[in-house]
Amino acid sequence: MPLPVCHNLLSRIQGMSQCHRLLSSSSSTLYDVVISGGGMVGTAMACALGSHPHLQHKKILLMEAGHRKVHDHLPDQFSNRVSSITPGSATLLASFGAWDDICAMRLKAYKRLQVWDACSDALITFDKEGLEDMGYIIENDVITAALTKQLNAMSDRIEVLYRSRAVANRWPSAYLNNEGSPWVQIEMADGRKLQTKLLIGADGQNSMVRSAAGINTIKWNYNHMAVVATLLLSEPTENNVAWQRFLPSGPIALLPLSDTCSSLVWSTSPEHANELLKMDPESFVDAVNSAFWSSEHHSDFISTAGSVLRSAMSFLMPSGSPIRQLPPSVSGVAERSRAAFPLGLGHATEYVRQRVVLIGDAAHRVHPLAGQGVNMGFGDVASLVHHLSRAAFDGKDLGCTSQLLAYETDRQRQILPLMAAIDVLKRLYNTKQPPIVLLRSLGLHATNILPPLKEQIMAFASK
Ligand SMILES: Cc1cc2nc3c(=O)[nH]c(=O)nc-3n(C[C@H](O)[C@H](O)[C@H](O)COP(=O)(O)OP(=O)(O)OC[C@H]3O[C@@H](n4cnc5c(N)ncnc54)[C@H](O)[C@@H]3O)c2cc1C
Repeated sequence: MPLPVCHNLLSRIQGMSQCHRLLSSSSSTLYDVVISGGGMVGTAMACALGSHPHLQHKKILLMEAGHRKVHDHLPDQFSNRVSSITPGSATLLASFGAWDDICAMRLKAYKRLQVWDACSDALITFDKEGLEDMGYIIENDVITAALTKQLNAMSDRIEVLYRSRAVANRWPSAYLNNEGSPWVQIEMADGRKLQTKLLIGADGQNSMVRSAAGINTIKWNYNHMAVVATLLLSEPTENNVAWQRFLPSGPIALLPLSDTCSSLVWSTSPEHANELLKMDPESFVDAVNSAFWSSEHHSDFISTAGSVLRSAMSFLMPSGSPIRQLPPSVSGVAERSRAAFPLGLGHATEYVRQRVVLIGDAAHRVHPLAGQGVNMGFGDVASLVHHLSRAAFDGKDLGCTSQLLAYETDRQRQILPLMAAIDVLKRLYNTKQPPIVLLRSLGLHATNILPPLKEQIMAFASK
């Protein structure tokens, strides 16, 4: 009867290995907080925790699967990966000193945002009174460099492990039955074992923390790629406007980097993206200029009907028509700056499980048309630090579910409407159907001439 013998042997081996695990888990290092994933959001989380006076004596670890990025000097050429950063995110980065470092490296403030429809004359502009900054275009590498610099200055408080990833996480509920450990157990790829009172999953859209915790995700791909590139302008300009035009194939954005350069984010079908990547530089520049300037998608019917309805609306709500500006023309594309990234939406049904919390793209991923992805992640950081620091001040356990649930409620209140709006915009503008074009053009016009509505949108999007 070989089977029972084998089974018996197997269970004894399992028992021994459990015993070994029990010994090693009791001797493994215990952290208050482990952050898995050191992208922009995870690193900002580490800096925010490390700099908060209520969390000074906590044992905190940041684990990043990639290499430590060394930033000795800023390259002359702009990186093709940039983010539009809101004033709210700038405030968070300033709270632990990274904003000054970003300003000392490079960024470009924009004072106005112009969004318009390629199928009609509809247009909306956003700006602030007194031409205050609406936002900032910053290279992701610059943000990472500033965050890493702050992290290095906190090396006495925050431990950082690069090229380190967890291969397995075990949760307290499962463990309480057989081993009695109340903490999250983390097994690293190199065999090390750690324990933590709170595990923060900041490990991006394919989060291992999220899947290991069994948290479901609602997600879909847009069957769209974002083509990015660094563009050279035909002539130097003040270049303080961010431009976005909705083409039937997807939005195209021109984001200012300097008086002579802008960054491109062009969302389009995978086939078209492939063509754009393979084009010679001259044809690529022509394609970009034509995408911003051409009126090939206009129709006489939409133009006439649109202008009649707009005049009627302006008569009822006279607040002046928006000043239509023209985007700068492009004369070149920086060498090797073209690249493409797949786009999709993803939302974790829960951001919190026992002693686990998700932040950044691990919790929510959006289309870049509203420039909100990393800003939403920085919003998570601000909210989670607020709740954890209160718990620490009150002498509570950082992994306590009630404060984690308060974080989840705060963030979902902000994120769900934003994600829904971005998804609706993406779909609404992906068509040339005349009734929909007419409807969205009127919506855009109405929003543009209703200052309170516009102000609300700006306030909501600049958090
Ligand atoms: C073309 C494009 C343009 C965009 N423009 C904007 C914009 O203008 N404004 C804006 O706000 N957002 C923008 N976004 C979105 C923004 O880039 C993302 O929301 C943001 O980068 C997410 O950051 P993150 O740190 O959450 O995740 P990630 O950047 O994905 O970082 C996750 C990190 O976790 C690490 N990791 C993964 N698995 C493990 C593991 N098991 N253990 C340890 N480490 C692990 C990875 O190495 C990585 O460093 C844009 C996105 C795209 C594609």
